[in-house]
Amino acid sequence: MSAARQLDDARAEWARGRGRRAINLAWGAVNRAMDHGDDEILRDAADLARDIASKEDGSVAREAQRLADYCEACLAGAGNGTQSEGLLGLITGWRRKRKCPDCAEPISREARVCPHCGFRLAPPPDSA
Ligand SMILES: [Zn+2]
Repeated sequence: MSAARQLDDARAEWARGRGRRAINLAWGAVNRAMDHGDDEILRDAADLARDIASKEDGSVAREAQRLADYCEACLAGAGNGTQSEGLLGLITGWRRKRKCPDCAEPISREARVCPHCGFRLAPPPDSA
């Protein structure tokens, strides 16, 4: 399923009043959009999430707000320099993470000491 299609499904669920289901689908669409650098989807998902956040309350509203904030943060990152470069940089930044062998938290590839548990790491294999 494409990101656009998934976001349409999210809107349809929201139209039926199923906010939580709509958010789950919108998250899926956003994750796909990030893979493809599709910031149009991010903008639409942020709009949908803000709409849900303003009409729901409790945990659904909080989840919707979290999604809206996430989309906006991604779009703000995409706004620095050219849009696709910003988004690509953001995605590349994530891919540059590795897992601490001791506590399994994601850490920077360049880190020498795990910030979570203090484990001393071997330098990354591609650092030479
Ligand atoms: Zn660690």
